[in-house]
Amino acid sequence: MVKWDVIVVGAGAAGCLAAECTARKGLKTLIIERKPMERIGQKTCGDAVGIHHFKRLNLDTPKGEELADIMEGIMVHSPDDQTVFKIASKEYSGFVVDRREFGQRLLRYALDRGAELYDSSNVRDVVVTDDAVKLKYRRNGKLEEVTTSVVIDASGMNGIVRKKLASLIGVSPTAHISDLEICYREIVKVKEPIPDKFGHIYLNQELSPGGYIWIFNHGENVINVGLGIQMSKKINPKEIYDKFIIKKFDILKNREVIHGGGGVVAVRRPFEYLAWNRVMFAGDAAYTVNPIHGGGIGSSMLSGRLSGETAVEAFEKEDFSINTLWSYPIKYMKEYGSKQVGLDIFRLFLQTCTNDELNHGMRQKLIKEEDVLRASLTGEVKLNITDKATRVLRGLGHLKLLLKLGRTAKYMKEAKKLCANFPKDPSRLHSWLSELNKLYVEYKSNL
Ligand SMILES: Cc1cc2nc3c(=O)[nH]c(=O)nc-3n(C[C@H](O)[C@H](O)[C@H](O)COP(=O)(O)OP(=O)(O)OC[C@H]3O[C@@H](n4cnc5c(N)ncnc54)[C@H](O)[C@@H]3O)c2cc1C
Repeated sequence: MVKWDVIVVGAGAAGCLAAECTARKGLKTLIIERKPMERIGQKTCGDAVGIHHFKRLNLDTPKGEELADIMEGIMVHSPDDQTVFKIASKEYSGFVVDRREFGQRLLRYALDRGAELYDSSNVRDVVVTDDAVKLKYRRNGKLEEVTTSVVIDASGMNGIVRKKLASLIGVSPTAHISDLEICYREIVKVKEPIPDKFGHIYLNQELSPGGYIWIFNHGENVINVGLGIQMSKKINPKEIYDKFIIKKFDILKNREVIHGGGGVVAVRRPFEYLAWNRVMFAGDAAYTVNPIHGGGIGSSMLSGRLSGETAVEAFEKEDFSINTLWSYPIKYMKEYGSKQVGLDIFRLFLQTCTNDELNHGMRQKLIKEEDVLRASLTGEVKLNITDKATRVLRGLGHLKLLLKLGRTAKYMKEAKKLCANFPKDPSRLHSWLSELNKLYVEYKSNL
């Protein structure tokens, strides 16, 4: 049986960038993907990606068929629609992409570098031994086996390798239900597009508790509209969409549905074990989505690239143990994961706010628009609690909101400090995780 150097499970944004990286360095790379090749990239998504991700990864920005629209920034609307935060800067501009076209480009990168693709092949089992990883996959009804030195799990939320190895690693196979968002999204043809080039986000704890509603332009008279709801609320987003969202926005009257579909996204800190012996986890399989806005295309590509680079280093050292692969979690935590931890704490705060609190908090600008942007880029929040805001909120009986927000900022800072000490050695991870969990428990009990 052929032994591959690297097998990447899943040909999404994370998997393609990982495979492109290892194949470019001459490693014998196989991608196993359950979809047929022509459907790779297709996904129910908001389709928005920030320009900074392309810059960081040195990738061409979307053009032609791949570019559905441009986005100059984001407007966040309060539940009562009285306050709008306009968040715009060079870093926050971006693109709305045609997911299939974009995904096919990323796939081409990997294949052009020499990676091989087994499409329509569903990975069913994974076994790690001292000298190899064995994967079983089903294709055309037949169960086949392949062997590799290193496997990168880029199988998205499904996280097939994560699930199969969870008990060996000693972690939960799936994210907690309260850290998941269940979404419904449509691509629709409309009479008039949104009159500006901003992505619009609507906070509303009654319609989309623990999540938000989004509307983005997606090309000429086409929009991408959807909502996410914290899964633990046990509410069907499609029902809310049909009953309320269509009526809330005039733009959706007489819409023509091009595509409707659902999806789940994990909004949390990264997976505890981004690396294990002979195994790395990237993209949604490693929970790399930004916990505040749910965007994960950019961070999936980043984690794919970093895990691919680490696989190359492991081959140079001829060592595939967790000790060598640990440089991947270190790099990811430094570049993106630490910010995710801070934003995860902020996400927990937002999910406890009532519509009233969100309305007043935004109206009083307890966080300034420019600091919302800063927070989403750094994971740290700067408060703007003026005497006037304190007086107004006290008068309205919302002093608790100020206290909650103050505590949140403090815990975000502490989390950042803790992440700066992310263990250089995997043997210290257990005690580091205990400290992080303690911080979460303490914060949640104070919320
Ligand atoms: C409704 C919704 C809206 C979103 N909006 C945005 C947005 O606007 N902007 C943004 O940046 N992010 C958004 N996201 C998140 C974003 O889509 C993901 O973070 C990103 O696509 C993850 O990329 P990935 O490569 O990790 O996983 P995926 O794109 O999910 O790719 C995983 C691949 O693995 C394959 N696979 C799965 N299981 C197996 C198996 N057993 N064997 C073989 N192959 C397998 C799948 O077929 C798939 O091709 C949204 C998500 C949802 C659900």
